[in-house]
Amino acid sequence: MLDGFKSTGTLRGVLFYDGEKAEVITLTNLNGMTASFMDIGATWLSCILPVGGEKREVLLRSPDMESFKKQSAYFGAVVGRFANRIRDGRFTLNDHKYQITRNNGKHSLHGGEVGFDSRRWNIEYHSFNQAIFTLTSEDREQGFPGKLEARVTYTLTDKNQLDVEYFAVSSQPTAVNLTNHAYFNLAGEDSGQTVLTHSLKILASHYLPTDNELIPTGEIKSVKGTGFDFTRTKSIEKDFLVDADQRIAGGYDHAFVFDRGLNDGEEDVIKLMSPGRDLVLRVRTTKPAVQLYTGNFLEGTPGLSGEYVKAQGLCLETQYLPDGPNHPEWGRSNGILRAGEEYKHRTVFSFDF
Ligand code: BGC
Repeated sequence: MLDGFKSTGTLRGVLFYDGEKAEVITLTNLNGMTASFMDIGATWLSCILPVGGEKREVLLRSPDMESFKKQSAYFGAVVGRFANRIRDGRFTLNDHKYQITRNNGKHSLHGGEVGFDSRRWNIEYHSFNQAIFTLTSEDREQGFPGKLEARVTYTLTDKNQLDVEYFAVSSQPTAVNLTNHAYFNLAGEDSGQTVLTHSLKILASHYLPTDNELIPTGEIKSVKGTGFDFTRTKSIEKDFLVDADQRIAGGYDHAFVFDRGLNDGEEDVIKLMSPGRDLVLRVRTTKPAVQLYTGNFLEGTPGLSGEYVKAQGLCLETQYLPDGPNHPEWGRSNGILRAGEEYKHRTVFSFDF
């Protein structure tokens, strides 16, 4: 096992809250691609690709552990128990009312005050191409019902794919929504370019508008005729901030609902292209939606290559619908795990270069 942050040479050996260093694991493939992860937050720290004869880091991250602890960007972490916001941190399940810790005004974001992102995960297994992290979240931890046993498996393939598998079981019905919060910049973390010049396609004809506290209003709205229409590849800057729904969020920070049947884990539902078209990221998933977040709050956050600016990276958080536990009318997309069910999902990030 690699020895803490020192092993990457970038996140230096600063201690985490529990007095120990973070463990970092680097996976490699035959084509010279590497992907690194740490046990804190089961975080995807780094993704380096050989593009045009050079090594390109395509993920944003903190420069050291001190900054990692202070940031609220959730760089590369697995967020949970429930990704995105839950209104007022409250929901009712089987006639019981639950109050989740609030860390975003009066709302809960990414699991409350101490989310899965800032927990130390157990490294259950690792090899040159696979890392398996597990975490136990106790009954009523942050207010959630049920003792949850979660597992995240990262596999780097020789087809330049990072395959992320999520598994969880709970002792009681609960709300579970796990995703990875990586920020991509396909031009390079240190390129000095924002992601606005990237091109994007999302096979989603609907999105969730939000109120000004970024909680979904409940409407599932057609993207037709709006800046949210990414059903055909377009540059992100083309319609950036054209809609009132974007302006309240400072950009894109919305759930896009994949068209029926496409979230089978086999079909590519997202395609992101670097401005020079020398690198393409394709995503397939079994989750019903993706939160497209264009890094609207990144300004001034310390990063590996310097302070980040707004839109320096973007997140493609495949997930259940935000605030789903308060929307039973959304059916199985609401993120409730019922008694006896297993939470089993997969998202594959494929890089073409
Ligand atoms: C949310 C943003 C939030 C960010 C935290 C995203 O998943 O959609 O609203 O600010 O996480 O950095």
